[in-house]
Amino acid sequence: MRHSFQTYTLELKHTFRVAGAKDRDTAEIGILRLEAGDLVGYGEAAPSAFWGESIEEVARAAEKVSLADFSSPVAYESILEYVREKWQPPKAFLAALDMALFDLAARSIGLPVYRFLGLNSEHSVPTSHTIGIADLDSITKKVKEASDAAILKIKLGTAYDIEIIEHVRKITDKPIRVDANEAWLKEEAVEKITWLATQNVELVEQPLPAAQIEETAWVRERVPLPIIADESVQTSADIPRLKDAFDGINIKLMKCGGLLEAIRMIQLARIENMKVMIGCMLESSLGIAAAAQLLPLVDYADLDGNLLIANDPFDGLPVTDGYIQLTDRPGLGVQPKTAIFR
Ligand code: MG
Repeated sequence: MRHSFQTYTLELKHTFRVAGAKDRDTAEIGILRLEAGDLVGYGEAAPSAFWGESIEEVARAAEKVSLADFSSPVAYESILEYVREKWQPPKAFLAALDMALFDLAARSIGLPVYRFLGLNSEHSVPTSHTIGIADLDSITKKVKEASDAAILKIKLGTAYDIEIIEHVRKITDKPIRVDANEAWLKEEAVEKITWLATQNVELVEQPLPAAQIEETAWVRERVPLPIIADESVQTSADIPRLKDAFDGINIKLMKCGGLLEAIRMIQLARIENMKVMIGCMLESSLGIAAAAQLLPLVDYADLDGNLLIANDPFDGLPVTDGYIQLTDRPGLGVQPKTAIFR
């Protein structure tokens, strides 16, 4: 098999702000194109500075790695293992390779990836639409723009968290998920989450800093809403130590290194009786389509990264009433619309 790699700058529709991070107007991704015989598969890398990864590092990995010894994508498990051990690339590169391998392997037998994985598209969950931190007027605009969404995910972690939710509640009574991105102190978290439970808020993601596992367990005992780990969880290895502090985990392909590891995480979370959310970074419709293949296995979906960008290089999966549709199209079900990736 041969691969090529191309970087691409996603332009965001709005400046994106979350607690504890720099404002962003763009996001750098890379597209991995993998060829086996006449077939082509695609994977996306959307590296995150939070996890210590950069697009430069991903591009260097793409240059070093050789897949010349492998002829078939169906050996995806051993290929991923080999690449991980030999080159120790960033997780975002592994995620791109994993996606491209599944895309190709499923295409080679004419199946969509979810069916290749033995999953049934009848069970699905709606995806939330993220509203970043902004002034109240901009929040009004963003909530109105998200009129197709079934669920809103509101980013908090500001001096005016209560005002934000009160403001959104004047516009809509849709269910809300809250993401504090590690911004709260434990007493503050108890107070805010107790109030949020009266506002048709469904769950709270990462209220405290990632390392504060015991403090999160303390909060969890005192609040009526499920607490979901995001920054506290990267791979399946993290799950056992989180089971008493969190009700569930937010899995992202870019954090864990792809679908194969994501499936391991789901299995382990179920053993520990934890809920599962599938999430994303700022990424194109390619990465979103890959994560969407796991919709039949999850409780919550937060797959809206592609909705926040203005120059999506891929034609994505269709969305109906907030539900991403898993189609009969082979592979990940998406195609590049930008000539540079063909
Ligand atoms: Mg989050």
